[in-house]
Formats: sequence, structure tokens, C-alpha cells
Amino acid sequence: MKAQVGMMEVNETLDTIAPSAAFEPQAAWQKLRVMLRDRLGETAFRRWLEPVIGTIENSVEGEPTLILALPTRFMRDWVEAHYGDTIRTMWHQLIKQGRVDFSVVSPLTKTNTPLATVEAQPLTDSMASIARDDLPSYGSTTQLGSSPVTMVPDLDPRFTFENFVVGKPNELAYAAARRVADTDNPSFNPLFLYGSVGLGKTHLMHAIAWHIRKNYPKRRVIYMSAEKFMYQFVRALRYKDTVAFKDQFRSVDVLMIDDVQFIGGKDTTQEEFFHTFNALVDRNRQVIISADKSPQDLDRMEERLRSRLGWGLVADLHPITYELRLGILHAKAEKMGCAIPDKVLEFLAHKITSNVRELEGALNRIAAHSQLVGRIITLEMTQEVLTDLLRASERRITIDEIQKKVAEHYNIRLSDMHSARRARQVARPRQVAMYLAKQLTPRSLPEIGRKFGGRDHTTVIHAVRKIEELSAYDPSFREDVDLLRRLLQG
Ligand code: ADP
Ligand code: MG
Repeated sequence: MKAQVGMMEVNETLDTIAPSAAFEPQAAWQKLRVMLRDRLGETAFRRWLEPVIGTIENSVEGEPTLILALPTRFMRDWVEAHYGDTIRTMWHQLIKQGRVDFSVVSPLTKTNTPLATVEAQPLTDSMASIARDDLPSYGSTTQLGSSPVTMVPDLDPRFTFENFVVGKPNELAYAAARRVADTDNPSFNPLFLYGSVGLGKTHLMHAIAWHIRKNYPKRRVIYMSAEKFMYQFVRALRYKDTVAFKDQFRSVDVLMIDDVQFIGGKDTTQEEFFHTFNALVDRNRQVIISADKSPQDLDRMEERLRSRLGWGLVADLHPITYELRLGILHAKAEKMGCAIPDKVLEFLAHKITSNVRELEGALNRIAAHSQLVGRIITLEMTQEVLTDLLRASERRITIDEIQKKVAEHYNIRLSDMHSARRARQVARPRQVAMYLAKQLTPRSLPEIGRKFGGRDHTTVIHAVRKIEELSAYDPSFREDVDLLRRLLQG
């Protein structure tokens, strides 16, 4: 289904996108394969690129994205790490725009048709007929035969509850997800999961879908990204077939919409979403939403929708702590069946602080390296293999940046971050900056102290405690600090 939709999307929007595109996307993908074979040689090509399935999906802005799917995560990470840049450069040469994403073919995406087998369509003539043919496929839940779980073509088999490592930062979201997965009488509706990128929102949603599919096979689940929701809706409007669009939600027991921030500023989509949402909640069906911000903080979202989204349970995924990072690394290493010394795991947990996705990436890379080159994993080897990644993650947020952003935010002078002034209006922001430095950089307490006018590490500890304490009983203060964190994490 994805490939067909993808093709249709391409055909449908090509007339509205840059006319300068040198190649039509399918032809470009064929051409790209030939170029890669030339560049890499037969052996490497056979081994890594032959199995790649290329599909093209259009982003809402009409940018064609080349999605390269590989049979395993290991292969995906390897190909992306080693050939990603080359492929992206070539793709841009061919098509002048658009993105390249790497993914894993999930066992549920059987309907994926490789682009290679899809014949090139004339761009404009066939557009309407393809589009019409495609329409009923999302309207009819019965099409999938005996499986009542519908619209979940992209469930990642690894995103299960069993594989989710729980710690302080995500325990509420996890508990809430388990609860909704096991009840057919929602006690909170909607469940709103939020947190910044790579912290496990999608993982939890897929886990809910898997759990229901396994334990309550009669319940109907729809999982969809907000982007897809919007895209389908807009397309339904265009072809005056909103009935089919609405129909698909009619008999659903659980509706999950991922990354709802994407419909910010899209008024008609919001309107439609609002109706769908209300209809389901009124009928006591479970709705689960994720976003990168809390309902109140969602940008360009209609007020009534914003407030409606916050009616149920709002559970946030906090930035991962050192303990959780280490826990996740242990779990993943074990799963991969890969002997990785504790020292290496601790090193990674210490250095890679941003999110779980990056942690996984690092682990995969050293495992791949060790398997292919036949080297055992040591700290030195890890540092060597991950040089660029470590540099990038260190570069990401510096104490200087934190000081600057915090000073700006509280409207104090940057020099006050280093000064001895103790007046509350400068001391508090300084404590916030120390707290963020501890959270967002791998610097030690004494190092942080030094950066703040040569203060002692106990001053930093005191600052961290103070901010945690204030955050605990003053929600508006906590939001302020969270906002700064998000700004810094970009
Ligand atoms: P988000 O949707 O919040 O951006 P994802 O759910 O896609 O993040 O998670 C990114 C990656 O990190 C996924 O591979 C996911 O399996 C993994 N991950 C996130 N949180 C955890 C966790 N607590 N335990 C195990 N894996 C996790
Ligand atoms: Mg996600």
C-alpha cells in the first residue's frame, strides 16, 4: 500500500513542485542504483545495496523522499553509516531536492511494492485514475481480511513493551500506555504522550498496538502519523471523498495519532481531527496522541483543540538520565547478543546524552564494526569508531550556549553568569544554567563550577537540588526550565 500511495503522491504533486527536477523520481532511483554499482563495485553493491527496497513518499510540502528499506536494522545502520552520504549526494544530483531516509522493512509491510518493479507512469495523465483507484483502500477496513487491526502497516516488531526499558523519566508514560493497552473502558481519554525526539513515544504507541493485537485480537486499532492523517484528509477533500476517509474511523476501538504537532497551523485538518477525536471520545473509544510538546505548548493549534487534548491524562517523557541510558544500553547489548564490556557501556551512557535513538546508533555501529572487522570491543576501539559521533554530541550543547540562552531568557547580562553577585534575579538564572549544564552536557560538577566564575562543585550540587526542588512544586517554573531545555536541544 505504501508504495502505491507513494507513487500516487509523487504523480499527484509533481506538477506543483520544482519544475527543475532533472529526473522523475522512479527513474532517478534506477539511475542511482546504476551509479552506486559503478562507484562501489560489484561486491559491495551486491552485499549491501542489492537488497535495498526503494520507495518514494512525498512529504506534505511535496518534497519527494526516497525511503530505502533494508531487511535488518543492522544492515540499515551499516548502509547509512557507510554509504549514506554518497547516496544523498547522488540523489541530490539527480533530483535536485528531496530527502533520503533509511528504514527497516517490517514483516507487516508485505504489501510494499519495490519501486524497481513499478513501471514508470506518465506524470499527469494517469494521475487522476491512480488516485481514484487508490481511494477505497483506506476506506475499507475489511480489506485486510481476518485481521481486525487496521492501518498499522508500519509497526516495528521491536517496539514492544518487553523491549521498553523503564526508569524514572518514562515510568508514568509507560504505566499509562500499559493501562490503555489493557482496558476497553478508557479511564483517561485521551492519553497524551509528549517528550522531545527519540525518547520513546512511537515505541510506546507501537507497543500498545502489538499488545492489543496479541491479547485482544477483536479490537480495532488505527495507528497513524499526524502527517499521514493530514495527507489522507487533504487528498480526500481534493477528490471529494471524505466519506471514505471518515469511514475508516467509524468502527475503531483505539485511535493513535503520532506527532500531532505536525498539524499545527493546518486549520482544516485540525477541524477534521477535532471532529474525529470528539466522535470517538463520545463513544468511549480510546484515543492516544503523541507530540513533542505539552498540549498547552503546541504551536498554532486552535485553542479548543489544545484544551481538549489536555482533558485526559498528559504523560511526559523526560530527558533520559544516566541510569536509564545505562539500563537501555545493557538491555540492547544483551538483545544483540554482543559482548560489550561494562566500561564501554558506561562510557557511552556518559557521552551520549541526547536521546535513545543516538544511543542505539552508537551501539549498532560498534557492534557492526566488531563483527565485520573481527575486533573485540574495547574502550579504545569504541572511541576510535565513534570519533565523529562523539565530537558531534559534544559539540551539540556547550556550557557557553547554555549561559547565553539562559541569560537572554531571564534578561540578565551574560557576565552575571560568572559574577559573584548574589541578588536573586541573577542568582536564580545562574542556578538554572548550572542545572541545565549538568543535564545537557557531559561535564563534571567541578568543570561546571569552573565555568561559572570558578565556583566550587558543591555550589553546582546545591544549584541542581534547588532547581529540582523548585520544579517539583512550581509547575510554571518547571515549564520555564523545560522550555529552555527544548530551546537548547533545538
Ligand atoms: P520518539 O517517537 O519519541 O521520537 P522513538 O519511540 O522512535 O522516539 O524511539 C527512538 C528509539 O529509541 C527507538 O528505536 C526506540 O526503540 C528506542 N527507545 C526509546 N526509549 C526506549 C526505552 N525506554 N527502552 C528501549 N528503547 C527505547
Ligand atoms: Mg516518533
